[in-house]
This record gives sequence, structure tokens and C-alpha cells, in this order.
Amino acid sequence: MSPKAPITQDVMTIPRKLPEGKINLVGLTRDQLRDALIEQGTPEKQAKMRTGQIWQWIYQWGVRDFAEMTNLAKAYRAQLAEHFTIEIPEVVTRQVSEDGTRKYLCRIAGGHEVEVVYIPEEDRGTLCISSQVGCTLTCSFCHTGTQKLVRNLTAAEIVGQVMMARDDLEEWPVPGAPKDETRLLSNIVLMGMGEPLYNFENVRDAMKIAMDPEGISLSRRRITLSTSGVVPEIARTAEEIGCLLAISFHATTNETRDVLVPINKRWNIEELLQALASYPKASNSERITFEYVMLDGVNDSDEDAHRLIDHIKRHNIPAKINLIPFNEWPGAPYKRSSNNRIRAFANIIYQAGYASPIRKTRGEDIMAACGQLKSATERARKSRKQIAAEAGLQS
Ligand code: SAH
Ligand code: SF4
Repeated sequence: MSPKAPITQDVMTIPRKLPEGKINLVGLTRDQLRDALIEQGTPEKQAKMRTGQIWQWIYQWGVRDFAEMTNLAKAYRAQLAEHFTIEIPEVVTRQVSEDGTRKYLCRIAGGHEVEVVYIPEEDRGTLCISSQVGCTLTCSFCHTGTQKLVRNLTAAEIVGQVMMARDDLEEWPVPGAPKDETRLLSNIVLMGMGEPLYNFENVRDAMKIAMDPEGISLSRRRITLSTSGVVPEIARTAEEIGCLLAISFHATTNETRDVLVPINKRWNIEELLQALASYPKASNSERITFEYVMLDGVNDSDEDAHRLIDHIKRHNIPAKINLIPFNEWPGAPYKRSSNNRIRAFANIIYQAGYASPIRKTRGEDIMAACGQLKSATERARKSRKQIAAEAGLQS
């Protein structure tokens, strides 16, 4: 294996066939769905049409029971129910924050759990979804990073999080009712648990389904994928998914970034910036978001702000910088920068001509804020000592 190859060694994907032998139709691409129908006995000549009909029932109307697919013959519906299911993750708990943020804990096959967060705003709502159970990476300020990777989520489990939230928000359209243009769930961010670019194919297939015009039909501009910097997969993201990109930048020198975002040891700041400069979709209307977590005394100096601008300018990257006040979690080895420090940092960036919004912390009372996600029942934990050692601190 070349030293630059992505880490995939402890990644498993579960088979799509469920224990009772039924195949879950959720998460299949249109081609896969068509093949599955033919295999089960749907005549080839009808397969394209049936694929379109079933697709619409599942993704446009949110139907989970073949019996409700009234434009299909009764006998055919029964045949489908014999071979297939329409399954999405099961909600185990649902917490609602004082500010309206909702956090769901969902159970997926194998008894694992993932967290999904819905953040309502005035004229839109963002769903923060997970791509893995845990994460192979060990960013020292991130709660998910303390949880060992258990497995990649399947495409069904990824798009299933969106379907689950639409269920909870009661946002599936009712046939015949006028189309409501303001959506409660209007945006998706892949900023929950896991590194989406280490689960590329499943994330891609799930987002393609979310964007499909005959279904959930979210615009690619309303989907943002956040990565810690898996450089070889960045160009592929533009080509195969086409969504917006956010980068967990967090430090302006390799020395500090090696500690905060250890993937930097594999692909350093310069290599990352070059990949971003050639991100085919980047333009003034589709800027790349630089996420920057504000850690007291670690990465929040005026020099850091100037260096950050210099990096972006040197590579001429259409960018906005999103400053994230650090969300503390039990045992975290860092402190949040003061509000004054964050404002001073933001001001330097703003003066240099870049947007520098400070991310509002939402859902803190229910531990739903960025980087606080981690399933409470997950046993495979790293010790505090290990976290401190990885952060380069004395334990
Ligand atoms: N693995 C991907 C996406 C998930 S993390 C990534 O790293 O980009 C989503 C964002 O939350 C990232 O920018 C991450 O660095 C940030 N984050 C993680 N822990 C945090 C914390 N405790 N406080 C604030 N932001 C955090
Ligand atoms: Fe994984 Fe992202 Fe957390 Fe790093 S910040 S440990 S890549 S989830």
C-alpha cells in the first residue's frame, strides 16, 4: 500500500440482504433498484417504469408499505412485499433543545447507534447527518474522535437519516395538496459523526438520492460535505457528488495542525490547499467553507488569523471562514477562546475581505452541538490518557 493511500483497513460494510432474506430498497441507486426488481421476477420490459413508480413512492411520498403503492397491481404489490422491505434507521430517543434543535439517537443494524441533529432557522432548516459510527481519525478536540470506528454507514442508513427527520417533521407531501415551497428540512450538512470521504461510495449514493428531482429533490447547493482533508477524494467529490465543500482547517501551521487534525501528517496544509484551489466547483457563488474551531491559546492568535488569510490568498481560493467556538465535552483537553478573542480574530479576517461568520452554538443543552456527538452506549472508547497523549499533552 502506498503511504498516501486512504485508511480503509477497519472499514466494514454490512450486506444489504436482511436476516429474513429480504432486500432493503432504500439506498439503492436507480440502476440497482431496477436490477433487484428484475431479479425478483419483474419483466425486463416493465422494469424501468416500475423502478420510477416505486422510487416515487419511497422518496417523494415517504411510503414504507408496498400495500399503499396504489398504481401497482395488487398481486405485484404482494410479490414485492415478499422479497423486499423499505427500512430506515429506528429512532431510539429524541431530545428537543430550548432553541428548537432536535437531536435523534438512531439505531442501525448490528445494534449500533448514530446521532442526527436538526437545526431550525427562520426560513430554513438544516439536518446534520452522520456517515460513520465513530471515526477512524483522532482529531484531538472532537468528541467523536474519542470513539473508535465501528463501521461505515450504508447508503440506506445515510439517506435514511433524512427520511427519518422528514417523518418526525411530518414533511412528506400529501397527494393532491398544494406544494409548499418553504421546507422545514431544506439543507443537509455532512457534519455529524465520521469522515464522509472515508465512506465515499455510500455517501455519494445517498446524496444522489437526496438530490434526485423525483424524490427528496434537494439542490446540490443545499448539501455541504465537511471533510478533515482526505486530499485524494476532494476532486472526486466535485465530480461525483457536486455538493458544496467545507474543510476542517483549524490550524495555520503544520506543527499545530498535526496535533489538532492528525490526517495533516498524511496530507499537509500545502497539499490540502492545492487540492482546494483546483476544486472544480469552487467559484464566487460556491465558495469553500474553511471551518476553524477556536481553541484558547492554541490556534487563536492574531498571527494565526493573518496566516490563515495568507494561505487562502496565496492559492486564490474562493472562501468563507466559519469560526466555531469550541464546544467542550467531558474530559476535553482544550478550552473555548474568549468571545473577545473570537471577535478580534473574525475582524482580521473580515478586514482582509472574507466573510467570517461566528457559528452560533445550537442545542448545547442537549449536547447536540458540533463535535459533541457520540453515542452514549458505545463501549469502544479511548481512554482519557490516550486522548491527552494524542493531543500532545501531559496526562
Ligand atoms: N469528519 C468531518 C465532519 C464531521 S465534524 C470533519 O472533520 O470535517 C464537523 C465539524 O465540527 C468539523 O469542522 C469538526 O472539526 C468540528 N468539530 C469537531 N469537534 C468540535 C468541537 N468540540 N467543537 C467545535 N467544533 C468541533
Ligand atoms: Fe473524525 Fe471529523 Fe471528528 Fe476529526 S473532526 S475525529 S475527522 S469526526
